Amino acid sequence: MSDKCRICGEQVQYLPSHLKRHKTTIVEYGKNYPQWVSFTTAPIDFRMTPNQLLEAVKLNLVKSKDPPNADNTETVNKLVITEDIAKNYQRIKKLPKFSIEEIERREIYLNRKREEMMQRLSFYCPRCKENVAPPMDSLILQLAMKRKMTLEEACENSKISHYRHVHTDYESEIINFEEKVEASYFEEVRLKHIKYNHESLEAFKDTIKYTKQKTKIKTRYSEEAKRLIQENFIPQKDKQETKKPFEENKSGKQETK
Ligand SMILES: [Zn+2]
Ligand SMILES: [Zn+2]
Repeated sequence: MSDKCRICGEQVQYLPSHLKRHKTTIVEYGKNYPQWVSFTTAPIDFRMTPNQLLEAVKLNLVKSKDPPNADNTETVNKLVITEDIAKNYQRIKKLPKFSIEEIERREIYLNRKREEMMQRLSFYCPRCKENVAPPMDSLILQLAMKRKMTLEEACENSKISHYRHVHTDYESEIINFEEKVEASYFEEVRLKHIKYNHESLEAFKDTIKYTKQKTKIKTRYSEEAKRLIQENFIPQKDKQETKKPFEENKSGKQETK
């Protein structure tokens, strides 16, 4: 939108923020002070996506025109009228945020990112004797991709998770536990004549009492996993260090002290 505020005539950096001073919104302003604005900046000012505005133009919800002296007719260089954007604001905001092409491109991008992250979180498991990567649907993978977990934490957790699931009795214990919970659910159904259905079973399983116990099991096996990792990984580190004669000497001296 233009840098000049049509209410006070001031040159402003970012109109939507400036308008708070006049206790008005960009939508109200657009309606009351219609003007032709660039297709490129309008979505930013009106807090919508370029695709929503493009769809609105296609649906004739928003009038558009080519800029004067335009030598091409690319949509992005078009001008759009703020009055229409303001008038049809609610409808435009409901239009698809992204085009199919944009969604596909994003999908491809995310898949590549996911594969990269899986690669970075993979490690050589001395017990499996092969490289292990976190599963595609792993929560750790998601958290690492969203940067809600550092790469270091994610690597550590991915190791623990693999060990817990594959090299401890965690999974069988969880299955046993769930069977017990289900048994007590059916007990209650029978005794209290509760109507049995899938939802009530899920709700029963989700009660704090059981989720807490499940967390306890997980914590216990995570501890076991950490212990196994230490056993498996630290000796290997030592072996690597003994390859360097200097390191060996140093540690040998320290031990004799
Ligand atoms: Zn102003
Ligand atoms: Zn393994």
